[in-house]
Amino acid sequence: MENVAGILRHCHCGSPTIVLTSRTQDNPGRRFFRCGTTSGPGHVFKWVDEANSEELGLLADKQAMLEQDLIQLKQDLLDLKKDISEIVDVLQSIKSTV
Ligand SMILES: [Zn+2]
Repeated sequence: MENVAGILRHCHCGSPTIVLTSRTQDNPGRRFFRCGTTSGPGHVFKWVDEANSEELGLLADKQAMLEQDLIQLKQDLLDLKKDISEIVDVLQSIKSTV
């Protein structure tokens, strides 16, 4: 069974997950994701607090990647502006010689 990090919105069987609250002595009041159809082997069970912690890690990774993409896009934009400026200069020099 694949162990998926973060918040699980669907079970491996395709059913949406649901959030329930544990009533066991070991984990009273602790919320968990479970398959919306059935419980048992092959279906999702995951503590919400652990899923949320994993989700924060995933989001931090995504944010770092997006920040790198933004830096690259800003540089690309500066390069394009420079290229356009050079093209305009060439066009103006051609125009002035005609
Ligand atoms: Zn399931």
